[in-house]
Amino acid sequence: MKLAALGEVMVELAPQSAVGSGDASKPQFMQSFAGDTYNTAVYIARGGVNVSYVTLLGDDPYSKEVLACLTQEGIDTSAIPQLPGRNPGLYLIQNTADGERYFTYWRGESPARELFADADRREALKAHLRQMDCLYLSGITLAIMSPEARGELLAFLQEYRANGGRVAFDSNYRPRLWASAEVAKIAVMDFLQQTDMALLTFEDEQALWGDTRVEECVQRNTAAGVSELIVKRGAEPVLMQVNGELDAIDVPLVSRVVDTTGAGDSFNAGYLAARLQGATPAQSVAAGNQCAARVIGHRGAIIPRTEYMERAAGAIEPG
Ligand code: ADP
Repeated sequence: MKLAALGEVMVELAPQSAVGSGDASKPQFMQSFAGDTYNTAVYIARGGVNVSYVTLLGDDPYSKEVLACLTQEGIDTSAIPQLPGRNPGLYLIQNTADGERYFTYWRGESPARELFADADRREALKAHLRQMDCLYLSGITLAIMSPEARGELLAFLQEYRANGGRVAFDSNYRPRLWASAEVAKIAVMDFLQQTDMALLTFEDEQALWGDTRVEECVQRNTAAGVSELIVKRGAEPVLMQVNGELDAIDVPLVSRVVDTTGAGDSFNAGYLAARLQGATPAQSVAAGNQCAARVIGHRGAIIPRTEYMERAAGAIEPG
C-alpha cells in the first residue's frame, strides 16, 4: 500500500520559556517543521505504510532540512520540486497569559501555493499520483491552491477514483486562508463528492457550516456521497458512519494532556495507516485514538521518532 499526502509544510517557531518566566520581550524560540498534511504523513509512515509527501519547496537551507526530515522518516520526496530563490512559509506561536496559543503566519509566498498550477509539473505529478493506492488532502491543501489548480486537482481525482484509487480528506477549515466562507463551502463540497474517507473534526464543521448538532454534519456528508465518515470531537466519542450505519466509539482517557496540537492530524494518520493495512473502520478509529493519545501527551505536533516508537510499543504510557 502506498499513500501520497498533498499540502504544505512550514517552518515553525515555538516559544520555549513558560509564560511568566524569563524576559517576555525576548522570547526564545524552538524551530521545527509542521503542517497538517505533513504531520499526518509523518505518523502514517511511522505506522508502517509507504508515504510520498507532495508539495513544493524552495532551494534555501530550511527547504533542504525539510527534505532531510522527510527522508529520515522514510518518506518519498521525489514529487517535491525545489523552486529556485524561494523559501517555505513560516509561523510563530505565542503563548498568552490565559493559556491560549496564537498563530501568526507568513505563508502568502510559499511555493506550496503552486501545487497543481504549472502544466508540465502537473502532468509529472499526475503520473506519480496514479501509482498510489490512496491520496490524502485537507481543506488547507485546497485553500492554498489557486481556484484553477483546484479545478485541475478535482478533475484528476475523478479519473483517479474511476481507476480504483481511494481519497481521504479532512476539511480542516481555516477561515483566513479562504476568500470567503462561501468559496470554502463550494470547494469543500466539490471535493467531498470525490472523497471515500472523510476524517472531519466537528469544531471545523461547525465553523464552516454552522452545525448545531452532529447529525447535521453526518447528513450533509452522507448526502455528498461519503461512504466512510469519521467525526472527531476531542475527548468525546468519535462518530463513525460506514455504509449508512452510525456508531459512536469512546476515546480512551489520556491522563496527562500536554498539548493538543496535531491531535486531529495524528488521529487521521493512525486511522489511515491501520485502514490501509487491512483493519476495519472500527479498529482504525481505535488506532487513530491511540496515535492521537501519544501525540497529545507531548508538546508540539511532531513528537520525536524514538519516543513515539517507544510509546507505540507500549514502553511508555500514552499520556
Ligand atoms: P483537532 O485536533 O482537529 O481539533 P480533536 O480535538 O477533535 O481534533 O481531536 C482529535 C482526536 O484526538 C480525538 O478524536 C481523540 O482521539 C484525540 N483527543 C483530542 N483531545 C483529547 C483529550 N482531551 N483526551 C483524549 N483524547 C483526545
